[in-house]
Amino acid sequence: MLSDSSSCRVCGSHALTGIEGYSDLPRVTSDSRPWSAGGGLFICLECDAIQKLPTTKWLSEIGDIYASYNLWPLSNGSEQPIFLSDYAPKPRSELLIDFLRNQIAIAQKGALLDIGCGTGAALANFGNLFPSWSLYAADLSERALPVLSRIPGFKTLFTQPLNKINRRFDLVTMIHSLEHFSSPTETLAEVRNLLGTDGVLLVQVPNGEISPFDLLVVDHLVHFGPRQLALSAGRAGLEIRHLRDDFLPKELTMVALPGVVSSGEWIAADSWSVKNATKKVQWLHAILDKANSVADVSHSLGRPFGIFGSSIAGMWLYGALQGKVDFFVDEDIARQGSVLDRRPIMNPEDVPEDAEVFLALLPETAIRVSQRMAVSPGRYILPPSLNLSEN
Ligand SMILES: [Zn+2]
Repeated sequence: MLSDSSSCRVCGSHALTGIEGYSDLPRVTSDSRPWSAGGGLFICLECDAIQKLPTTKWLSEIGDIYASYNLWPLSNGSEQPIFLSDYAPKPRSELLIDFLRNQIAIAQKGALLDIGCGTGAALANFGNLFPSWSLYAADLSERALPVLSRIPGFKTLFTQPLNKINRRFDLVTMIHSLEHFSSPTETLAEVRNLLGTDGVLLVQVPNGEISPFDLLVVDHLVHFGPRQLALSAGRAGLEIRHLRDDFLPKELTMVALPGVVSSGEWIAADSWSVKNATKKVQWLHAILDKANSVADVSHSLGRPFGIFGSSIAGMWLYGALQGKVDFFVDEDIARQGSVLDRRPIMNPEDVPEDAEVFLALLPETAIRVSQRMAVSPGRYILPPSLNLSEN
């Protein structure tokens, strides 16, 4: 129903309009590699879904990205810890399992399928807590099979299309994978068919309403907000039990069960959406302009210039500044001391006194970090402000 590459990935409408200014922006991959400009970004005038379209060019780009995908970025394949204010840092999948246990009863025995398993961090964490479960994985290639095979309880890695898997599961997880699929509504319908009668689906995607940086990720096709995720799930025949935008910051977390196909949680598009999407793209341009001029001034005065953050936003800015970056700063101790493209990742305490450090973060986060860094050496530069609610 949605195989036409010029239709909305969520609702199937052809009422799509391009977001101005996007094609000039350098981009980044989901494994944090800088990527050239030249993409397209669209918004559906019926359901507000911001999305790329699976054109021949896009499919060829993601083919290149996945062929060289870095399964083991800096942290050796383990997940990056998530810092929530009231808790000790925990890997994402552990937080998600806690969340799931609070929502539904998890039996002592069952079969779990993790779609988009990567190196199996989520499977391993689940297996530790539920050692009698059988663990299955699905991904694009068999590259991670040797690592997955060492996880206790691991059974099979599926690399065939989801609709060719001949098995039902008690739990299916899609942790940061749905946004990579070219027809997510069709994918969710296929996943629904993989669920046993009492099967449960857990989905987590970036919240497309929050971070403009996510728009830059080449291989993230649909930038779901809560409404678009609900719409997609309903059209796929899933009944939503929980859909939360506040469980993890900047993420949408959904628990769903097999249900009947519906028109979903349809809410008409609102006229602010196109303006907001355009503002986000303009803000990304504004960050680039500001960082470029700060870097130029720093270097003209003989001061080192660095970027705070070495994940997606930091690596995007690094690529876009084309060689003007001398170092990275990161608070994640697992990253400190590593080298990215011959630039050191520094502990904030080791930043040179005369350096300038650009905060490649959302403005609110950047303000909090700059307050924390007030006692550290170096001068921290905030990104431009971003106000999505004003005209
Ligand atoms: Zn739509």
